[in-house]
Amino acid sequence: MSGSERYKALKGMHDIMPPDIYLWQRTEGIAREIFSSYGFQEIRPPVVESTGIFTRSIGENTDIVEKEMYTFSDKAGRSISLRPEGTASVVRCYVENNLHTLPAPQKFSYAGPMFRYERPQSGRFRQFYQIGVEAFGSPHPETDAELLSMLRHFLGRLGLRSLHFQVNSIGCPACRPAYREALLGFFSDRIETLCPDCRRRYGQNPLRILDCKVERCVEMRKGAPAVTDYLCQDCRSHFERLCSLLELLGISHTVNPEMVRGLDYYTRTTFEVTSENLGAQNTVAAGGRYDRLVKEFGGPDTPAIGFAIGMERLIDLIKLSAEHRPPAPEVFIATIGEQAVTEGMLLAEKLRISGLWVETGDPVSSLKSQMRRADRLAAGYVLVLGEDEIRSGKIQWKRFADSTQGEIGLSGVCDFILNKA
Ligand SMILES: [Zn+2]
Ligand SMILES: [Zn+2]
Repeated sequence: MSGSERYKALKGMHDIMPPDIYLWQRTEGIAREIFSSYGFQEIRPPVVESTGIFTRSIGENTDIVEKEMYTFSDKAGRSISLRPEGTASVVRCYVENNLHTLPAPQKFSYAGPMFRYERPQSGRFRQFYQIGVEAFGSPHPETDAELLSMLRHFLGRLGLRSLHFQVNSIGCPACRPAYREALLGFFSDRIETLCPDCRRRYGQNPLRILDCKVERCVEMRKGAPAVTDYLCQDCRSHFERLCSLLELLGISHTVNPEMVRGLDYYTRTTFEVTSENLGAQNTVAAGGRYDRLVKEFGGPDTPAIGFAIGMERLIDLIKLSAEHRPPAPEVFIATIGEQAVTEGMLLAEKLRISGLWVETGDPVSSLKSQMRRADRLAAGYVLVLGEDEIRSGKIQWKRFADSTQGEIGLSGVCDFILNKA
């Protein structure tokens, strides 16, 4: 490479670095632990799929597919896309591997990067991360309630408070046509005042007008018919049962008939968890039922439900809700002189094998500068090993937390640290 060109990450792409990475790892670890206690097993689909998988499931006329997908031709001229969300890939995997032949319900979780070519703005990235779950094979509202309970459990374990659960039912193919007609009727004399996107939505999927964030559209839809008034008997009893289960589980929630979610594949239950601490972009997690998607993908008729959580926003919230100190080395070994450097290295290896995070000082630095580094790292214990110590077989220790210090025999130092650290 010639010259001094400095590369930058692509617009909207970000590095996840220390100290934030510790919050990410902790969050992912808690997700794994809690989701598996509800029987969700991790799967890892590829991040690139045939474009058709997303256009088919998310919907041709959605913003995601129309404006935001990273779509390329590969060398063989096939249209491929970076996944903009996780559900479509998981459904593809479920159908492709005939997972419906296993006892239902089959429950999966995933975590990883998603890609959308959005205008980068605060809290939105072109490569962003989601954790999600999908449960296949249960049409029952008990499954919906269990999923929401698991979500609450997870967010609670992360220490998040003042969360707001919103639920809705957007009906099924039996009852949605009547609602669609009612919406078309309601908006028919206001089409001209809607934003250009909503004017288009009017012809394609008027439900999505309810999702529009443009102020005049929000204004225009006041008094629009509520989807919950148009549910068929089956959808109504499913939703009523869900709401009463949520009561029983102590999950306080509101019914928001405007919450239709932006994707084509949802049926019946939709839900969102929002936080007041996130400003306008306040959705932490969202999901819903998609009872027809497996069949759309060529599988047998299989009801399903899932949710996804945006990691970046979740991490922002965790940061707002509590102070988090990144981990620090448990031990720092400062050494002076060649023999001490060797002894220090052996001791460091012994302690690391026992599971401790151990840093060693730069062998040619002064003791003073090594101590400065130990201080900056906030190491739990500093051990000082010089020629005197080698000769006397004793080592100096100092504890960062309370500045206590002392001396201990070289042979006993490992046990001493392991008992205290
Ligand atoms: Zn229905
Ligand atoms: Zn609009």
